[in-house]
Amino acid sequence: MPDNPVLVKCLVWDLDNTLWRGTLLEDPDVELFDRLGDVITTLDSRGILHSIASKNDYDLAWQRLEQTGLAEYFVQPRIGWGRKSDSVREIADALQFAPGTIAFIDDLPTERAEVSFHLPEVRCYSAEQALSLPGLQEFSPVVVTVDAKRRREMYQANFRRDAEKESFNGPDEDFLRSLDLRMVIKRADDEDLSRVEELTLRTSQMNATGVHYSDPVLRGLIAEADHEVLTVTLSDRFGTHGAVGVLLIEYHPTVWHLKLLATSCRVVTFGAGSVLLNWLVDQAAQAGAHLAADFRPTERNRMMDVAYRFAGFADDNCECLTDVGLSDDRGDIHCLHLTAVRRAAPTTMEVVSPDLAATAVRVATAPFN
Ligand SMILES: [Zn+2]
Repeated sequence: MPDNPVLVKCLVWDLDNTLWRGTLLEDPDVELFDRLGDVITTLDSRGILHSIASKNDYDLAWQRLEQTGLAEYFVQPRIGWGRKSDSVREIADALQFAPGTIAFIDDLPTERAEVSFHLPEVRCYSAEQALSLPGLQEFSPVVVTVDAKRRREMYQANFRRDAEKESFNGPDEDFLRSLDLRMVIKRADDEDLSRVEELTLRTSQMNATGVHYSDPVLRGLIAEADHEVLTVTLSDRFGTHGAVGVLLIEYHPTVWHLKLLATSCRVVTFGAGSVLLNWLVDQAAQAGAHLAADFRPTERNRMMDVAYRFAGFADDNCECLTDVGLSDDRGDIHCLHLTAVRRAAPTTMEVVSPDLAATAVRVATAPFN
């Protein structure tokens, strides 16, 4: 095991003789093993999801889980008579997790071997190890954020939303409107930044700039009058999507320099990225400022390049860039530029935000600036 093993994002449980003592089909009153409920709630509070791959009768097993009070902790359970490796793969696919972030626990060596054979990256544990799991490094994230604690709720809301989308007849835009989406953009405080740190660390992010700003640097910039550190959260009638974006802007009198923009790809389907860019363009237009966005191409952020250009950013040689040194050689980072004009408010979501234009004008006209 390496010093920093990849964290487990979902633990898949066998039921008979792993979660409970005995075999359900022989004894309908099987009891949970002692203290396993604590293991499940502890890992859940760390943002680790639980699921089930069990060879059992679905209705009977789920009923027993409901009686134990633990049913709500399990997402995407696979209870039936198929191969466990298929169940584990289906769970990983449904959650969009790589197999290397899945763990599987089963009392039977043959089942563990079957899963290992087909999914070698999945980490397998014997039932005797159940109580020791919370003490293992791979189950111990260093930072547990507000969003991590609510991760299961967020996934459960996602599944309900997806189910409703499946049965929705009509254009996608009508479906988006039916969600009552609400984007809240706010100036970051310390707690927001810990959520953002997770966002910028998670591999699912799309870091538009491709430039990393460490947590201490961002924390330091919160206090700078000419910098703006903003976090973005998205919610709808199914629940919250949590923190989905972060922006770092530096104000100059003629141009706003967008130094960092990262958005979660979880919310791409809601058009959150373009709503955010349009909002920013509109704010800059109100302040009479141009926009300059840092961009360093990486393997992962091609979609952000597309989003920038779709929003109207281009490779201009505007004077505003020269004025503030942004046209200087900065290695593989270049600046995309836009002359901001007012934009219409989005039709698919409500946006709540601070008034950046007023702040920027105040900063630009302040003495000593
Ligand atoms: Zn310009």
